[in-house]
Amino acid sequence: TKSENSRTKVALPQGINQATFRTAIAELRDRLGEEHVEFVTKLDDGWYMENPNTHDGMHISEESDFVASVVVYPSSTEEVQTVVQWANSYRIPISPISIGRNYGYGGAAPRVRGAVVLDLGRRMNRILDINPDDCTCLVEPGVTYFALYEEIQARGFQHLWVDVPDIGGGSVLGNALDRGVGYTPYGDHWMMHCGMEVVLPTGEVIRTGMGALPGNNSWQLFPYGFGPTADGLFSQSNMGVVTKMGFGLMPNPGDHESYLYTFQREEDLSQLIDIIRPLRIAMILENVAQLRHISMQVGLEGKPRSFYYSGKGRIPDTFIHEAAQKLAHGDCTWLYYGMAYGPKDIRQYKLDIIHKEFMKIPGARRIDPSTLPADNYFWVRDRIASGVPDIEELRWVNWHPNGGHVAFSPVSPVRGNDATALWDIAQKRCEEYNLDLFPTFVVGLREMHLIVEIVFNRDDPVMRDNARACLRGMVDDAAKRGYGEYRTHLAFMDQIAGTYNWNDGALLKFNEKIKDCLDPNGIMAPGKSGIWPARYRGRGWEM
Ligand code: ADP
Repeated sequence: TKSENSRTKVALPQGINQATFRTAIAELRDRLGEEHVEFVTKLDDGWYMENPNTHDGMHISEESDFVASVVVYPSSTEEVQTVVQWANSYRIPISPISIGRNYGYGGAAPRVRGAVVLDLGRRMNRILDINPDDCTCLVEPGVTYFALYEEIQARGFQHLWVDVPDIGGGSVLGNALDRGVGYTPYGDHWMMHCGMEVVLPTGEVIRTGMGALPGNNSWQLFPYGFGPTADGLFSQSNMGVVTKMGFGLMPNPGDHESYLYTFQREEDLSQLIDIIRPLRIAMILENVAQLRHISMQVGLEGKPRSFYYSGKGRIPDTFIHEAAQKLAHGDCTWLYYGMAYGPKDIRQYKLDIIHKEFMKIPGARRIDPSTLPADNYFWVRDRIASGVPDIEELRWVNWHPNGGHVAFSPVSPVRGNDATALWDIAQKRCEEYNLDLFPTFVVGLREMHLIVEIVFNRDDPVMRDNARACLRGMVDDAAKRGYGEYRTHLAFMDQIAGTYNWNDGALLKFNEKIKDCLDPNGIMAPGKSGIWPARYRGRGWEM
């Protein structure tokens, strides 16, 4: 799906005139080299492997709403400092990205129109260290899961695994900063990070944890160092540019085995989630597992909605189930994809418990993997849960022509009544706004994220408006019942920050206080995660 839209005018940042802006950019070109500072004169949505760094390729409003004026490619921490100092002298907003494939959450786009995107991925893409004894790595922003995986293979470190998310083209560092997940036992990427180097909004550089001690050899081993841990300030935030980040790598467990269980009825959800909870907390279910709705599986066939249904409104379930009958595992409502790790004896002990528990649900089936063809989605999950990057996941975006997607991603306990409550919220709002939904429960250790993907036609303003209204409705409904989102698209950051409002918004006030202190000129990604610098606050930027 390609769509192009030529524009001649550059989107200027607010509060600066054309002439000053041109002078500022000329100065930056002098310092970094002409070819590393590009004006944004054309928007091309591209596709996953050729993702734009100028705007949101999955735009849920006008393509040009969240758009950069200029893209800059620094090559080192020093050059990042140069850009930050330059931005302060002109008070030009800058917005760091690593790869910019943050699909469904705004991609590469800055929150404020006309900001300068700091594309770290293009030139800062070195793997600085892979330690085969400690099982750690240290990477720059541009290192993708594919690149890290391939380097580990090339160096002959087959005893190391990388934990990969659903699609492997993103940045290891960027994904962890946005608190993305993967599907091995190391699935919580933020939890598995250890040590950062950060350029602050005023240009100083810090190293966190043991990195602050000169000559240390445990930067990637002990995340805390001494004193307050600062790392959290730089996650889902706008308090700095992260230029290096360390991670623990999982040792290859020797062997592994994927399994798939299917469950027939929609109302099985509650019992199933209650069965999952104790097994997951006890790590009998070892990985961040996925409980998917059958609509996701039908969507993965990659065929457009019109192939199945031509009516208006939400596609009736009967059509989904009819389509599902042709899938290799047959029709059902829920699918649990998991993996057991280690030698046969150890796996079997866990698999027997899992089988006994899951089969308590009437109609439950264990799908024999040997019956599934090589191109079945089961093998995609098998690769991902064993640390092999993949890019198949987004096939369901073809549900609509020019498909874009956005996600409602609330967090809840792993409890049946919570799962049902969130499921009801999603269904009602999608019904109201005539949208189809593609839900998956992603089970962490003690909590789960429900990820409801909504696919829309990027060229259909009515459908886009509906998708936005539907998202806003779901966020509100969820907040009223005490649920909050773990991550969101640029367009909803203010709303969601506003739901985390205990004690008269004390947490947001705290974040704003830190923001004003660290970034007095308000140049770093203003508005990211609903945190606005003083210069912008209460002046109509919030949405
Ligand atoms: P992906 O790795 O999926 O391509 P991005 O590079 O788009 O993801 O990063 C996701 C988000 O994380 C960005 O929108 C930005 O807010 C933040 N981010 C990414 N890299 C950095 C960085 N090096 N420093 C600070 N924030 C970053």
